[in-house]
Amino acid sequence: MAYVTINAEGCKGCLLCIEYCPRESLGCAEGMNRRGVHPVEQIDPDRCTGCRICALVCPDVCIEVYRDAPSVPSEEK
Ligand code: SF4
Ligand code: SF4
Repeated sequence: MAYVTINAEGCKGCLLCIEYCPRESLGCAEGMNRRGVHPVEQIDPDRCTGCRICALVCPDVCIEVYRDAPSVPSEEK
């Protein structure tokens, strides 16, 4: 099991991570952050392989990837 955490306030909405995720695990949140954009969130952790592509392409280093984690902590969903 793998999942990612995303710094929603740091996200500038460039959507690179969504574009490059090979598993369509990411999407945009309904609400806006303080930068006035819809930040990225993980919409389907079950699809995540922990490949780290999203973290590598994020220009603002907003994404952390956790691999071999037993489950997504409730506060990070
Ligand atoms: S780690 Fe890979 S599969 Fe998981 S969200 Fe990022 S790009 Fe997608
Ligand atoms: S690549 Fe980073 S800054 Fe761009 S949308 Fe994804 S999380 Fe936000």
